[in-house]
Amino acid sequence: MSYDPSNIFAKILNGDLPCHKVYEDDTALVMMDIFPQSRGHTLVIPKAPSRNLIDADPATLSSVMPLVQRVAKAVKAATNAEGIQLAQFNEAPAGQTVFHLHFHLIPAYEGQALAPHGGGKADDGELASLAKDIAANL
Ligand code: 5GP
Repeated sequence: MSYDPSNIFAKILNGDLPCHKVYEDDTALVMMDIFPQSRGHTLVIPKAPSRNLIDADPATLSSVMPLVQRVAKAVKAATNAEGIQLAQFNEAPAGQTVFHLHFHLIPAYEGQALAPHGGGKADDGELASLAKDIAANL
């Protein structure tokens, strides 16, 4: 399947839709997931268009992984989570719902199960505050 430029993350990258932005540079955008699986669930989105890992340019993967690590550290520091899950889904049967490559960084808190993938929407005030705290730890 080919890349569809009308996907929701493309619209966010273009500035057509808002997000709780943590960080942006020429190659990637980092934002809060609005349906978080735990407090501080963050998405790292390379700007180069690809559906997912399968059709991504290897150069995009090489350039984004250091940022994924940097954001993982910042999310852990900002949330005090004991662990961080890195997740990335490829095509609908694997759980992908937005077809622009992205990496999930999901804080894991001792004794707390993760909410289901694509669950309830978080409070905008809380997301804005988390985005600021994570950005301050980058
Ligand atoms: P996927 O299932 O494709 O790996 O993940 C897509 C993620 O995007 C989900 O975790 C979902 O909660 C999140 N999401 C869906 N729509 C929006 C949106 O409009 N804004 C933000 N920030 N996240 C979204």
